[in-house]
Amino acid sequence: MKEYLTEAVVLNVKPYKETDRLVDLYTKDFGRVVAKVTGGRRATSKLSPHLDTMSLVETRLIQKNRFTVADVMVKERFRFLREDLRKNSSALKLMFLLRSLVPELTPDLQFWHHLIRSLKQGKVSTRTFLELLGYNPLLASCESCYAREISHFSLVDQSFLCRQCSLKFRTSLGSKLFYVN
Ligand SMILES: [Zn+2]
Repeated sequence: MKEYLTEAVVLNVKPYKETDRLVDLYTKDFGRVVAKVTGGRRATSKLSPHLDTMSLVETRLIQKNRFTVADVMVKERFRFLREDLRKNSSALKLMFLLRSLVPELTPDLQFWHHLIRSLKQGKVSTRTFLELLGYNPLLASCESCYAREISHFSLVDQSFLCRQCSLKFRTSLGSKLFYVN
């Protein structure tokens, strides 16, 4: 059994089994980590109120086969992001993008600092995050028509689309389609 203290951004929280939750974290020291919150679904959970998607937290993780959250404290809720509808929705989309694309346990300090800076400044550029993850919009062309001007990224096959093709596939791709800003 090992114990770690690290900062993390909460990417997502979801119910797990009858009384637990699973929290998806991007941690400073280990990259993405999915950890169990034992009893996290109970109203009396001391941990759950600190685990809001998008928040910056400091957490103590215990690793024994899998990771479990032993303790957590909110450092920053980014209230101004949550209160601005547009910023809130693009930040939430980013959280979704990251938990879909970032492999687990691959720490990357440059990525970490960029994430924190983006949340603090309320400027979320999918373009930069995609670049940092190895999907370079500048070198890309539309997967469907090969046009050089891309405007969207599809999570389904991790490819870029031009504006016109993104409109064509908008319905079928739904939330898996990201505007590249
Ligand atoms: Zn196209």
